[in-house]
Amino acid sequence: MFYDSGLRFQCQMCRYCCSAEPGYVYLSEEEIQGIAQYLSLPIDQFMKIYCRAVDFGDSWMISLREKADYDCIFLSEKGCGIYPVRPKQCMNYPFWPSIMESEENWKEEAMHCPGIGQGDIIPGDEIRRRLEDQADPAVIPKIGD
Ligand code: SF4
Ligand code: SF4
Repeated sequence: MFYDSGLRFQCQMCRYCCSAEPGYVYLSEEEIQGIAQYLSLPIDQFMKIYCRAVDFGDSWMISLREKADYDCIFLSEKGCGIYPVRPKQCMNYPFWPSIMESEENWKEEAMHCPGIGQGDIIPGDEIRRRLEDQADPAVIPKIGD
């Protein structure tokens, strides 16, 4: 793959990936439990306040909510409000399968993420590890009509 010999990346803390455009941050059951616990909230209350269900045809997936300006609900002036327990999707950006499937996609992402091309080289093995470290998003089947 184009990243076998490693790629330079170092987050510049610009917060673009937590804001700016509509998007989804999908959560696994473990992440839902972990964030609710971190916020000292019962799971149902956490989901009501901070989550939304995304329609996937015959099922729903759970994503964090966004504010009206598309900022993540947990983004503030101080940064991520759940940083120690932030979802894997956030932790592993920009090493997402959709971005890493081609060099063209990686270069295109670099137009949005100023951390791409900066800092030390992340070795190919580490990129592979991050690519495999994807959360299993919680799926809620729809009950029949
Ligand atoms: S867009 Fe890139 S540089 Fe900016 S906060 Fe996200 S990972 Fe860091
Ligand atoms: S949970 Fe934190 S790191 Fe993830 S998008 Fe929201 S503010 Fe950014």
